Amino acid sequence: MKKHLAILGSTGSIGTQALQVIRSHPDHFEVELLTANGNARLLIQQAKEFLPNTVVIADTSKLQDVRDALKEFPVKVFGGEEAIIQSVQMDSIDLVLTAIVGYAGLKPTLEAIRAGKHIALANKETLVVAGELVTSLAKEKAVNIYPVDSEHSAIFQCLAGEWHNNIEKIYLTASGGPFRGKDKNFLAEVKKEQALKHPNWDMGAKITIDSATLMNKGLEMIEAKWLFGLTPEQIDVVVHPQSIIHSIVQFEDGSMKAQMGLPDMKLPIQYALGYPQRMKSDFNRFDFTNYPSLTFEKPDTNTFRNLALAMEAMRQGGNMPCIINAANEVAVAAFLRNQSGFLEMSDVIEDCMNKISFIQQPSYQDYVETDSETRKRALELLPA
Ligand code: NDP
Repeated sequence: MKKHLAILGSTGSIGTQALQVIRSHPDHFEVELLTANGNARLLIQQAKEFLPNTVVIADTSKLQDVRDALKEFPVKVFGGEEAIIQSVQMDSIDLVLTAIVGYAGLKPTLEAIRAGKHIALANKETLVVAGELVTSLAKEKAVNIYPVDSEHSAIFQCLAGEWHNNIEKIYLTASGGPFRGKDKNFLAEVKKEQALKHPNWDMGAKITIDSATLMNKGLEMIEAKWLFGLTPEQIDVVVHPQSIIHSIVQFEDGSMKAQMGLPDMKLPIQYALGYPQRMKSDFNRFDFTNYPSLTFEKPDTNTFRNLALAMEAMRQGGNMPCIINAANEVAVAAFLRNQSGFLEMSDVIEDCMNKISFIQQPSYQDYVETDSETRKRALELLPA
């Protein structure tokens, strides 16, 4: 039986790698829906190859171009964010890969869950912003959330056959990013071109900057809390520069299970799409002789303050993770426009944590308001 897929964010780093996986397994998958923000050219090319039932381009100024290009093809074309939310509920879809970046992924993910679609979750911001809401809705609708993030996929793979055993602790591994070992004086001068060069992973711009600031690891701790039902004390981070061990579970008997492999996002994407089956792949295989030493160190949360701020937000809960997410999205976008320095990103986040009203048990509307208030404040803090 083929799985019928929606890929939200098909033109991004995760989306295009997912389509590579799908291209290699035509007997397993059928593409029903592809969506993009503004990259009409790539969306058209993907639609011609995969012939989905529907494509949606969020930027409506590109809608006519996409319609014109696909008028001879059996593909429905819509525009705007509301069309993504409507299309993701199509009866024919079994599994939705959420690979939109940032807060924009929250609403479509919630609506997909509400419509009973299983989720392959790449868009970690969804769980950071509204983890409690998303996971309780998934439970109510009997929807499975399969992690795509490599660390969470690793934990998920380590837990296979262990569902009756309690987790004592998990260790999320972090590469440390391009600036591992550097001090604040160095970071004060860092430019976006340096921050965009990740040593091990080739990813979209936002997550690459988050990896350089270690915010990505903080967001992943919050994501892990919700995915695996853990307390903050059960989640630890270890820097492992080779990115071969993707994460580790420690059980109550002290035994540890780790999942390892070369850093290649196609592997966790394929595991999430194919679950519970491990499908064959021709991805490069790990060779022990190329990695005579795998090393581990503590993260430097004094220099990389974003990780400490995210840990604090996880500890406080409520709308605090939503606040750090919104402030971070604004700060990263400003850094990518050369409007903010590397260290100033943490200042913006910390200010928003101190100034935006804290809500212990937020509703969906509270998250929407928190996000918008935080973005406003964060923008005001940036230099003109
Ligand atoms: P990219 O920036 O490469 O791609 C983002 C995708 O989302 C694109 O298809 C983009 O369309 C679309 N998009 C952006 N904004 C909107 C919007 N407002 N409305 C609708 N669609 C939008 O990101 P990545 O693929 O790197 O990351 C996607 C998610 O996966 C992130 O949450 C990230 O944290 C997570 N992730 C990524 C990993 C990676 O290796 N890249 C690893 C683990 C997790 P367009 O191309 O038209 O702009």
